[in-house]
Amino acid sequence: MDSSASWEPPEPPQPSACAVCAHQKRRCNPGCHFAPFFPHDQQEIFRNVRRLFGVKGIARFMDAAGPEKLADAMDSIICEANAWAVDPVHGAYGVQLALGEVLRRFNAELATLQHELALCREQQPAQNAPPPPPLPDTPEDLGPGLLRLGPPQP
Ligand SMILES: [Zn+2]
Repeated sequence: MDSSASWEPPEPPQPSACAVCAHQKRRCNPGCHFAPFFPHDQQEIFRNVRRLFGVKGIARFMDAAGPEKLADAMDSIICEANAWAVDPVHGAYGVQLALGEVLRRFNAELATLQHELALCREQQPAQNAPPPPPLPDTPEDLGPGLLRLGPPQP
């Protein structure tokens, strides 16, 4: 009996099949709607998104977004999935926390710089004030009762 007659080897995945079609072991057609977002060389991104939403979830997002908002929706779920891959505890909230800390530090630095700028502006009028009047050269210029101090005597 020849058992190999009914057995066909699985079709090898297309080298350029998108990550979704490669995962599902199906032919990736030129019009595949997953391919622009999950190209064959970005398996890890697809793996992150699939782990969080599943392939059916991805398809639901694509249907719900419609063609006009499709790119934004896919960016959103890819960012969300990557955030969960990086931080399995906080996910996107961890990104928000980190950005909040960066914002807090920049605001503190801005407040410090604004304070220093205010101090510089307070000192600036004194530097730009008109020069003091010239010193008197003769004892008469000193006014009555004042002695002029001369250079030190050797
Ligand atoms: Zn595909």
